[in-house]
Amino acid sequence: MIFSGTPSNEVQATQRMQRERVADDIYVFTSDRYAGVTAGVVYTPEGAILIDALPYPQETWEIKAFLETRLHVPVRYVVNTHHHADHTYGTCLFPDAVVVGHALCRQLLDTVGRTGLEEEQSQLPELAGLFVVLPELIFEHGRLNLHLGNKTVQLMHSPGHSSDSITALVPEDRVLFAADTMMPVPTLLDGDLAELINSLRAIADLPADNVVQGHGEVILRGEIQSVVESDIRYLQTIQERVAHVVEQRGGLEELRRIDIESCGKSRIPLNGLVTDLHAANLQKLYDRMMSG
Ligand SMILES: [Zn+2]
Repeated sequence: MIFSGTPSNEVQATQRMQRERVADDIYVFTSDRYAGVTAGVVYTPEGAILIDALPYPQETWEIKAFLETRLHVPVRYVVNTHHHADHTYGTCLFPDAVVVGHALCRQLLDTVGRTGLEEEQSQLPELAGLFVVLPELIFEHGRLNLHLGNKTVQLMHSPGHSSDSITALVPEDRVLFAADTMMPVPTLLDGDLAELINSLRAIADLPADNVVQGHGEVILRGEIQSVVESDIRYLQTIQERVAHVVEQRGGLEELRRIDIESCGKSRIPLNGLVTDLHAANLQKLYDRMMSG
């Protein structure tokens, strides 16, 4: 996994995962096994706040071991930025932590989250023993502030990638965990394009010097505005291009010709997975336009 980083950023390999220090008390772990998905740790002497918990227990255990043996603190809060498996499966490995999320995240984990985990457990033995934990501290409107030790984590609703997505800002360190609102290619999945554009605009207004994306590399000061603009342009472009295909009564063949690079995004990040995410975006928009 590639990281952009200033020389002062500490980039180290744990057993498998990359661990990057983006501020004195803030670490980012990036999965080597699943699409560069990230988990963040906000350290305080009173305990740690974990922002997302990764999908595979082996990697989540690595984070837990780092916290307990290197930083010597327990995880007091686990923030679920949204209900998707790659961000939530590891939550149950922190039974003493308070789990926090949006009200919709609780609802979705309780329904599609449970069925999804059951299905995956039938195919992947290493997921045996995992179980869904519902956020017990939830919010619906505005923002929820967590205060622990000398840190604040401000949670904000950020729908678009999914209806329940939130972001987490640590104002003391000017670090924003944007979760899947920001990825190397904006990704709609079960979300909504107009909402995602609004959420990206909101990110551009936040006081952050580092933005931790839900997948892929950390975005640094000076790059944030241009990445947000490029993300919004990408979303507007695919909307126009897919609308054109629909107007011309084109089919999937025409849809497939809409190349990711012609929409302003690289095909390289996440080991090329971005081209699949791009194709899924097009398909989703196409299906939605055809049905409505
Ligand atoms: Zn994700």
